[in-house]
Amino acid sequence: MTETNENIGVIGAGICGLCTALALSSKGYQVTVYERDVAPPEGDADQAFFEWQRRGAAQFRHPHAFLAVMCNMMQQNYPELVDNFWEAGARKVTFAEMLPDEMKADYIPEPGDDAMWLLMCRRATMETVLRRYVESRPNVTINNRNNIIGMEASVENGEINVKGIQLQIERGETQTVMQDVIVDASGRNSRFPGWLSDLGATIDVEDNDAEIVYYTRHFKLKPGEKEPPRTGKDRSAGDLGYIKFGVFPGDNGHFAVILCLPNHETELREAVKDPGRFNQICCAIPGLYPWVNAEKSVPTTSSFGFGNIHAVWKHFVKDGKPVARNYFAVGDAAVRTNPLYGRGCSTGIIHAHLLADLLEDVSEPLDRALEFNRRTEERLRPIFEMSLREDKQGIDRAKAIFEGRSLDDKKGFKKWLRASFGDAIAGASREQIHVLRGAMRSFNLMEKPGDFLKDSKVRWTILRYMLRGRERNNRARFQRGPKRQDMLEVIRTPPIRAEEAA
Ligand SMILES: Cc1cc2nc3c(=O)[nH]c(=O)nc-3n(C[C@H](O)[C@H](O)[C@H](O)COP(=O)(O)OP(=O)(O)OC[C@H]3O[C@@H](n4cnc5c(N)ncnc54)[C@H](O)[C@@H]3O)c2cc1C
Repeated sequence: MTETNENIGVIGAGICGLCTALALSSKGYQVTVYERDVAPPEGDADQAFFEWQRRGAAQFRHPHAFLAVMCNMMQQNYPELVDNFWEAGARKVTFAEMLPDEMKADYIPEPGDDAMWLLMCRRATMETVLRRYVESRPNVTINNRNNIIGMEASVENGEINVKGIQLQIERGETQTVMQDVIVDASGRNSRFPGWLSDLGATIDVEDNDAEIVYYTRHFKLKPGEKEPPRTGKDRSAGDLGYIKFGVFPGDNGHFAVILCLPNHETELREAVKDPGRFNQICCAIPGLYPWVNAEKSVPTTSSFGFGNIHAVWKHFVKDGKPVARNYFAVGDAAVRTNPLYGRGCSTGIIHAHLLADLLEDVSEPLDRALEFNRRTEERLRPIFEMSLREDKQGIDRAKAIFEGRSLDDKKGFKKWLRASFGDAIAGASREQIHVLRGAMRSFNLMEKPGDFLKDSKVRWTILRYMLRGRERNNRARFQRGPKRQDMLEVIRTPPIRAEEAA
């Protein structure tokens, strides 16, 4: 660790802000984190989940997957932090444990499989443990209840130099704090683009609606009950074509169920808002029933949703010139992908480390801004584009099912070819371990998206599956469960048990 004189202000103590503070502190920077919300309550993971007032991160109580890339980065850089997660009740799930039963028997471990593991816990547990670890760093200060309400900057010849921030502590007086570098980790609703625009900057934004809503309900296993097996014929995560579902095992016996619906499924969307109906839908899905039936678990929250799900990329360099110097947006403030893929925290930690390396490598503000943009494009753009492609295919598929059209509709050959390639990967991943391994590496961001497709054995397998046709691959992709019309019948009957609406 080298001593550096630069003072860095990080706005936001969400996952990416904390990871940025951690990465910068490891390099010897003095870091002050400004967070609008209160600190987590003293106590354990349950207190953090049920009691923490976390208004600044609306997704805080939705379940989060922490992908292998993030787990490995934490393990390699901060092994004591990972130990703290285990102490707080988090669990490790390995690649071997994720395999479906039919693949387990013939499974021969390969180099790299060890790295494919996931950390399972509630986001509240992740944030609290991470926050306490960051707070223990001697060169990091976290100021809670500090709302950043403006930016200090100079403008000369159209060039914006960011110099500090204006903050308000609990609606008190406004203060100005000067910083050498400002890191914007204030999330999806960052106000910095607006402030920069007021000074004449133009930030181009790519914004694509994923056209889905995301509903969650949390549960706890009843005393003495164990989690149902996560493999077998009826998996605990999947797609029925008109609804996607998934169980997120958490820590300390807690788990959450998500139901994800296309915007056009208005009747089902209305139904999932009601906790009793939410349970009714879950109980009708064979992969969810073993988890949510009243003998196995009890709901611990109501059902609640998150709409307006967009993939967003903000461009902070325009026509080869940075929109501002000494300002760096990381995490959701810069790049957002559909939460369905569970990539946001992982791209956040990658971005945080990328910034810390950059500030160490490059010292001139103009070069820093340009190089940060270049490295962000190089590392995160392929992930963003993969997510966008998946969103577009998901929208097309859901629309075809809604309109009763065949998935093999060959209108637009290129589009059809791309979709049928995606379906073949999905179909082959369910049956061929070498394809599953590659797809998992890609999904977990352990390699550049799609790199596994360079392998000739994988390519031949995918080709073979493509020749089977989309309908057959989609049959392998979709889970067993009620057809759309049958599910509509389910929600038109009264809830099964009064206690499930609790
Ligand atoms: C429904 C849903 C489910 C998701 N599931 C997953 C998942 O499974 N896996 C995954 O990896 N990602 C998931 N994500 C994405 C993930 O939550 C985000 O990518 C991640 O939280 C981004 O971290 P961040 O630090 O950039 O922003 P945030 O975590 O949103 O943190 C921003 C912080 O800035 C603070 N702040 C904002 N404005 C100010 C201000 N003016 N002054 C001071 N502080 C301010 C906020 O209070 C907050 O603490 C999900 C997202 C959603 C919406």
